[in-house]
Parts: sequence; structure tokens; C-alpha cells
Amino acid sequence: MAIFNKFIIIILPLLPKFFVKLFSNKYVAGDNFKQALNTVKKLNLDGQCATLDILGEHTVGENNAKTITEKYISLLKYIDSNNADCNLSIKPSHIGLDIDYKLTLTNYISIIKESEKFNNFIRLDMESSKATDSTIQLYKELRQQNENVGIVIQAYLKRSEEDILNLPDNSNIRVCKGIYNENEKISFKKYEDINKNFLRLIRRCFEKNFYVAIATHDIVLINSCLDLIKEYKVKTEMFEFQYLLGVPMDKSINKFKIKNYKIRSYVPFGEDWYDYSIRRIKENPKIGTYVLKNLFYK
Ligand SMILES: Cc1cc2nc3c(=O)[nH]c(=O)nc-3n(C[C@H](O)[C@H](O)[C@H](O)COP(=O)(O)OP(=O)(O)OC[C@H]3O[C@@H](n4cnc5c(N)ncnc54)[C@H](O)[C@@H]3O)c2cc1C
Repeated sequence: MAIFNKFIIIILPLLPKFFVKLFSNKYVAGDNFKQALNTVKKLNLDGQCATLDILGEHTVGENNAKTITEKYISLLKYIDSNNADCNLSIKPSHIGLDIDYKLTLTNYISIIKESEKFNNFIRLDMESSKATDSTIQLYKELRQQNENVGIVIQAYLKRSEEDILNLPDNSNIRVCKGIYNENEKISFKKYEDINKNFLRLIRRCFEKNFYVAIATHDIVLINSCLDLIKEYKVKTEMFEFQYLLGVPMDKSINKFKIKNYKIRSYVPFGEDWYDYSIRRIKENPKIGTYVLKNLFYK
């Protein structure tokens, strides 16, 4: 499979856009607000919530970062006018982190002020390790002003347990494995080590009474998290399960539904779908395998 993945990475950018769209359709909810909200409404009807992500990252130019910030503000209004159960996940570099820390903070504050009006919630997505310190700092500053903001902690980073222990009380954390290619000095590389750390982090979150979004498709991990929820007697309103739109989760979702657990789908959309799809594949060669599955098992 490793050879196949390498092959996919090389040939995919050379293929026509419509071919890439064949698989990205499953992972991306269209180009615009209307299409994104259609997907969200379907999820809501199925008893699931959503978090929307406007595709894009590493924005260049202050004006562009401002324009994207305005887009997120309009999206919050659009979510509210559609009565959708849906919050936002925003990458710091999408609204300015590659340009300037203060600009990014100001942009997040504008978005969060708008979200307050609708009692909505904003999560700072976590990008590569170059951005970890700044993202945690942003989160801490934003939390001082508003509780309806959350962060992401990646289980593959060796520093993550320490990070969790230093987060403010009542934090709201998404725990995921992490998707970027990180140096082995700072990150776990083996599946078993990442999973072990994932569970360690979930334990720390439960011990600190944080709200936890458990973001994984790994059935082994999901089952272990269900055991931890039992062990720590965690109240249903203190956690949720999250998955990426398009990843087959039927069995797990049914399991969560039986137990009345909150389920949230991460729904990316936007004009940047092509670059996003190509980047995701390059960043994580394993996705090559998923591409194959998605092409043949629709
Ligand atoms: C809601 C959510 C938000 C996330 N936010 C961030 C973030 O802010 N920062 C960050 O670095 N990473 C983020 N990620 C990505 C995450 O870090 C992992 O890279 C990704 O979820 C794959 O890891 P896994 O836990 O599913 O385990 P894996 O071991 O990678 O996968 C477990 C199984 O799930 C299935 N699977 C996994 N991914 C896919 C896929 N794309 N398509 C089809 N099947 C798949 C496969 O069958 C695989 O065997 C997020 C993931 C989720 C679910």
C-alpha cells in the first residue's frame, strides 16, 4: 500500500480537477454558504451537530486576512438565520498568523464578538508545531474575554500533556492525533505511541474537568475512550465525539446515538477545495488509501 500511496501523491496533482473532485466531494461540502448549510441541515436532521471550516490557510496580506474574517462573521449570521446547530473551527493562519500575532488576535476577537450575539462557539484549529505556542497563547488571551472558545491538542506531540496541564480552568479541548508531518524529536511516530498518548491526554482532560471533543475515527481509540468515560463517570454534557465529514463512521455513530452522546461532524467547504484536497494528501500519505476506497466504494 505504501507504493500505491506514493503513486497517488505523484499523479494526483497532474490529474484533471474533476477527477480530484470525485473524492473531495465526499470530504468537502461545496463551494459556498448555501451548500455548506445544506450539509449541516442534513446532519442536524440526523441528530448530529456540525462545525464549519472555510477552507484555506497561510493567508498572505493583511487585507486578505480581514476579508476572510468578515466572511466568518457573515457565516455566523447565516448559521443563525438558518437555525442550524453548528459552530466554527478556524485555523489561526487563515486569519493572519503568518502575518502578525496581534492582527490574528484582533481578527479572532471580531469573530468571537459576533458569535457572542448568537451564543455560538469558536474553536481554534491546531496547525503545525511552528504555530503551537502562538495558538495556545491566542487561546489563553481569548479565554480571558469569552468562555465560548476552544482549542485543539494533538496527541502526536510529546509536549501535549504539559500543554493540557497549563491550560486555563474549564477549558474546552478537541483532542486529535495530529495531521502534520512533524520531526521525531518532538513527536511520536508509532501508531501505538500516539494512541497511548491520546488516551493519556483524555485522562488529563477528564481529571481537569475540561469539556472534551474526542476527534478520531480510530475504532480502537473510540472504544478505549468509552471505557474512560465510564471509569471517570463523565457526564454526557462534558464531552462529544467528532469526525471529519465523509469518513465512514456508521457503526460508531450508531453506538453514540444509542447512548445519547453528542456527535459533531467537521464540515470543510469553500473555493479552496482543490488545494485543500491536494495538501491533505501530501501531508498524510495514508490518505492515498482512503482515496482509493472512496473512488470504488461510494
Ligand atoms: C473533527 C476533527 C478535527 C480535526 N482537527 C484537527 C486539527 O485541528 N489539527 C490537526 O492536526 N488535525 C486535526 N484532525 C485530524 C487528525 O489529527 C487526524 O489526522 C485524523 O483524524 C486521522 O486520525 P484518526 O484519529 O482518525 O486515526 P487514524 O489511525 O489515522 O485512522 C483510523 C481509521 O480511520 C479511518 N480514517 C481516518 N481518516 C480518514 C479519512 N480522511 N478518510 C477515510 N477514512 C479515514 C481509517 O479507516 C483508519 O484506519 C482532526 C480530525 C477530526 C476528526
